[in-house]
Amino acid sequence: MTCGAATRVPSAARTDGGYGQVMPEGDTVYLAGRRLRTALSGQRLVRGELRHPRLVGHDLAGRTVLDVASVGKHLFTRFDDGRSLHSHFRMDGSWHLYRPGMNWQRPAHEARAVLATTDRVAVGFALHDMELLPTTDEDRLVGHLGPDLLDPDWGAEHAAEARRRFILRADHEVGLVLLEQRVMAGVGNLYKTEVCFLLGVSPWTPVRDLPDPDEVIALSRRLLLRNAERPEQSTTGELGRGRQHWVFERGGQRCRRCGTRIRTAEQGDGVYARLAYWCPQCQPGPAPPPSRPTARRAP
Ligand SMILES: [Zn+2]
Repeated sequence: MTCGAATRVPSAARTDGGYGQVMPEGDTVYLAGRRLRTALSGQRLVRGELRHPRLVGHDLAGRTVLDVASVGKHLFTRFDDGRSLHSHFRMDGSWHLYRPGMNWQRPAHEARAVLATTDRVAVGFALHDMELLPTTDEDRLVGHLGPDLLDPDWGAEHAAEARRRFILRADHEVGLVLLEQRVMAGVGNLYKTEVCFLLGVSPWTPVRDLPDPDEVIALSRRLLLRNAERPEQSTTGELGRGRQHWVFERGGQRCRRCGTRIRTAEQGDGVYARLAYWCPQCQPGPAPPPSRPTARRAP
């Protein structure tokens, strides 16, 4: 058993598997960062192996971990030699925390980083975009991102900047803009889906038709914050299995509010395509273009 560590695999990655490239939600990465920070910060590594092909040969043993920080969906582990280890979960990555000698829950060949102190072993599985870089250069990897919705220092300036970037996409579909990490960082397909439901708009609604852009940003942040400190990701307020979401992953089932069957369709192109879920009754607005046949039609 992992020590209650960053073991959450985004539910979208489990059930939307093969449907485009599914990213974790920002709260998953935030929680992983917080748990790694608690376990490793201020600790000297007795083992520091990097198994990513690009980093083989680097040994971090002897280094002290200064901090672990998440920025949107990016994670930085910072060391006392002025360097940071960057990682991204993409579809299938995760960090686990173990006690020394415990069996790992994922195959050893998937391990990309093993950072161990005398009493904890942090193993990063299937991590992507791994890079060792000067801590002062982290902006090179995340400087393009919009404000991080889970930034502990979030304030009016962050909200204003997110709003500025959001309304610049006036002609774009809100279901796509919410996923754009350059606008605001942290929302994945789950929160995008649920934000659209709670706003009462279809995911194909142009940004310019939204009555209150500030509410879009505030709602996204509220939902992420609500789940940032726990492994469950509930937008309904309920934690029971099958009751955590309004429409996400509920295609063909009845809307919790009005009983209409929830529809699904692809939104976005190529690798950016995601499965959208919406209630046509509760979420009026543009329907998917006819060239995008409804995926997973109800039988
Ligand atoms: Zn409904």
